[in-house]
Amino acid sequence: MTRFIFITGGVVSSLGKGLASAALGALLQARGYKVRLCKLDPYLNVDPGTMSPFQHGEVFVTDDGAETDLDLGHYERFTGNSACKNDNTTTGRIYTNVLARERRGDYLGATVQVIPHVTDEIKSFIREKDGSADFVLVEIGGTVGDIESLPFLESIRQFGNEMGRARALFIHVTLLPYIPAAGELKTKPTQHSVKELMAVGIRPRILLCRADRQIDKEELRKIALFCNIDDEKVIPALDVKTIYEVPLSYHKEGLDTQVLDAFGIKDAKAPDLSKWEEIVRRIKNPESEVTIAVVGKYTNLTDSYKSLNEALVHGGIANNAKVNIKFVESTLFDSAEKDIVHQLDGVHAILVPGGFGERGAEGKIKAAKFARERKIPYFGICFGLQMAVVEAARHTIGIKDATSTEFGEKGTHIIGLMTEWVKGNAKEERTAANDMGGTMRLGAYPALLRSGSKVAEIYGSASISERHRHRYEVNVAYKEKLEEKGFIFSGMSPDGTLPEICERNDHPWFIGVQYHPELKSKPFDPHPLFVSFVKAAIEQGRLV
Ligand code: GLN
Repeated sequence: MTRFIFITGGVVSSLGKGLASAALGALLQARGYKVRLCKLDPYLNVDPGTMSPFQHGEVFVTDDGAETDLDLGHYERFTGNSACKNDNTTTGRIYTNVLARERRGDYLGATVQVIPHVTDEIKSFIREKDGSADFVLVEIGGTVGDIESLPFLESIRQFGNEMGRARALFIHVTLLPYIPAAGELKTKPTQHSVKELMAVGIRPRILLCRADRQIDKEELRKIALFCNIDDEKVIPALDVKTIYEVPLSYHKEGLDTQVLDAFGIKDAKAPDLSKWEEIVRRIKNPESEVTIAVVGKYTNLTDSYKSLNEALVHGGIANNAKVNIKFVESTLFDSAEKDIVHQLDGVHAILVPGGFGERGAEGKIKAAKFARERKIPYFGICFGLQMAVVEAARHTIGIKDATSTEFGEKGTHIIGLMTEWVKGNAKEERTAANDMGGTMRLGAYPALLRSGSKVAEIYGSASISERHRHRYEVNVAYKEKLEEKGFIFSGMSPDGTLPEICERNDHPWFIGVQYHPELKSKPFDPHPLFVSFVKAAIEQGRLV
């Protein structure tokens, strides 16, 4: 029997509902249950693919090629389960489906309304997960009280009613702000937020109270009393040093025990949390420390690089090292006069992550040049590979105007738009005239690795599958010339047309990949490229 857990948030946004959901998923999993996590997002975009990283942080890509909310990344990193297209939906997607149905005449002449048509569509997104796990955790994006969350709240209210208390549970995450003048954590916003939820007919049975310091027993009791919740189900969720400590901390406060109790489950086995204990132990006791420069243009919202930051942490865990990330804003170095050297001098490794558009590109090309010439470990991811190829073309094989089609018509296009390529048995097509949304090479694609190459050694395998999210490709026509100068095309699509990985054979660690390895890294299963990259950074540290 599948049980459903709905997680809402109140008081403020950015409460860490996604992490809380992921951590609860990990705790139930540690007790031997099968879990599935999904997210409902209240915005009108059909998916976050067209949103600026500054708006929404990273776009997380699944194996089946969906562009989804970054919380799905937390779900994967905490449970190890691969998320899929059907694990995330938005108001935009729900309305798209409803309107398509309306045009087809599926509603048989009815007046199409939010209730029941939109709410039914939302409920069917949830109901379709029935049977797929012991627990389905559904996170509701946004903050209770927002206009746009209402159809989702109404849907989960109805769904909870249909399922009954034995199969549906509402958890509300709130914040207790600390007011320095009063020297107190305040419970009033939580009371109001629960009231708001009750006004739409949802009675949370568990409260997860975020706070930056210890919450007094008295305060917890007060919340329980005012919010109509059992004392032991008002659970403190205090800030912790590393996000990987969250499952341990929530378990200590009784979250998983109370969830099972709310469902009346008496025979659950104790959770095995040893892997989380080991991860936290390693994070807290590093044997060495490295500084890695991340040269990108979304550096003032580090959520834009969420999975990347985590993958570097995972690489650190595997090497017992603390990884400090130095974000370097690439747009500052686009002009010819401005040199990036003073920003990169002394770092142990350089990473150029994924990115879009011309702004900041020259800064990234300079970073690749610096790493090549100074023999500093370089990891280019997607755009970071493309810029390394442009750099090599400009400075090692003499194509001075080497560039990407992404930046316009001018120059020699070393990176270009592929108008078609093969996925599985079906041919997919992209043209310059397509809509921007959903026109990229998205999701998992296989690649074959050249035997004897560095990447083949790192992966320990001749074939891999990694997730993609890009529109442009490295032009294979320049392969021979570049290889003569030590820039080896060591990973290719199985049909040999699309370069997937390039590496330098005259450099200690210089690898560029067309895909996003960071999306598949987990704290307990770190991605081999990140393990190897951090190791190379540590070795570089020994040299300087
Ligand atoms: N802008 C590049 C492209 O579309 C790279 C995208 C990325 O780095 N994810 O191909």
